[in-house]
Amino acid sequence: MKRDQSNQLYAVAQQYMPGGVNSPVRAFRSVIGQPIFMASGDGAYLTDEDGNQYIDYCCSWGPLILGHRPPEVIQAIEKTLQTGTSFGAPTKLENELAQLVVDHHHHIDMIRFVSSGTEAVMSALRLARGYTNKNKVIKFEGCYHGHVDSMLVKAGSGLVTFGTSSSAGVPEPFAAETIVVPLNDIEAVEAAFQTYKDDIAAVIIEPIPANNGLLIQSKLFLEKLRVLCTAYNALLIFDEVISGFRVHFEGATHIYDVVADIYTFGKIIGGGMPVGAYAASKAIMEQVAPLGPVYQAGTLSGNPVAMAAGIAQLTACLQDNFYEELNEKTQYLVESLNEYIEYKDYSVRLFHIGSIFWINFSKDHHVNSADKINSGGMEYFKQFHNFLLENGVYLGPSGYEVGFISRAHTKAIIDTTIEKMKQGFDFVFKV
Ligand code: PLP
Repeated sequence: MKRDQSNQLYAVAQQYMPGGVNSPVRAFRSVIGQPIFMASGDGAYLTDEDGNQYIDYCCSWGPLILGHRPPEVIQAIEKTLQTGTSFGAPTKLENELAQLVVDHHHHIDMIRFVSSGTEAVMSALRLARGYTNKNKVIKFEGCYHGHVDSMLVKAGSGLVTFGTSSSAGVPEPFAAETIVVPLNDIEAVEAAFQTYKDDIAAVIIEPIPANNGLLIQSKLFLEKLRVLCTAYNALLIFDEVISGFRVHFEGATHIYDVVADIYTFGKIIGGGMPVGAYAASKAIMEQVAPLGPVYQAGTLSGNPVAMAAGIAQLTACLQDNFYEELNEKTQYLVESLNEYIEYKDYSVRLFHIGSIFWINFSKDHHVNSADKINSGGMEYFKQFHNFLLENGVYLGPSGYEVGFISRAHTKAIIDTTIEKMKQGFDFVFKV
């Protein structure tokens, strides 16, 4: 494929923005070639600046559950634009989106809108600390919670030690407030609670970890986290920035039937516009300013255009069989490919939950913690990714990233994808 326009744009971008991008993974450092500059999206397709078309499985990293430019979302945005872009005062659209979420989620009474997932997590952690009057937070290796200082942390050297920062610019004392433990390891969580028992404000987890592969946890593990949090008066935070409204309207909490104390949302809730949110019971949310002592604010929070997009998108998600159809399509993609892979005895396997899928270059059927990911498989992923790009299929540019299926991915589009992916596996394993 010709990529002259993309390459020229990338050369300019690098002069003006660090790495030529506004979010590092977009720089294609984990795959072959240079970032592709996109010109437009339509349904399941992306078109780049050179006119090449791709079936898109990145879906803007998850928000586009209806695909690109869904008519109801675009109409809602256009209608709202006629009234203005921002007022810095309450609008009825905020009420509407708040009601839509709260009325269809059994475990929250109140919500606060922010502008990104990172902001949602940062605010939820502050709220948990303010509510419990404690400081430390337990997080899991392999879960990503945005670029919040205290979440850019890796495990310390001992079994249960505080974390050390994983980014320059995060002071060690901030990192020391976070305890990092492995996923799927309830003993490690128990040990952390026993060591720091009076000072753990919260346990934060992606209940469906989908930022470092798709590390599906057992219901039992999540249930035990719930029990431990209750026993030690710590809050359980489900970071549902990816899984919220994706695997079900009520996200992972519905799938596993485990209830968190605070939920964080992002991505789908904004219909492709920048929206995040955190939500909890009335007792917890009443701690937030102006009702309570936990400060949190935002100039563009609850932005009317973004609210309108979110309302239109979430309304579509509430239609009958919406999630069933997405799940069926994803299952069809994953099972068709796994059958082929097994027949060919290739060292790769696809995993999925709801409409999230992950391609892992290993034969392992149970990859549920970060240390089980075969990093050697990433070399195969690079070849596979490049093959698919050249054949009109766009995956997120890293083997640690998951893929997403949207309403716009028809069975015919998925059939085409299956054929191309089969060819991709043949290419990678040189048959
Ligand atoms: N939490 C989770 C689980 C995420 O996947 C992400 C982003 O991918 C974030 C938080 C941060 O969200 P944002 O990129 O909107 O700041």
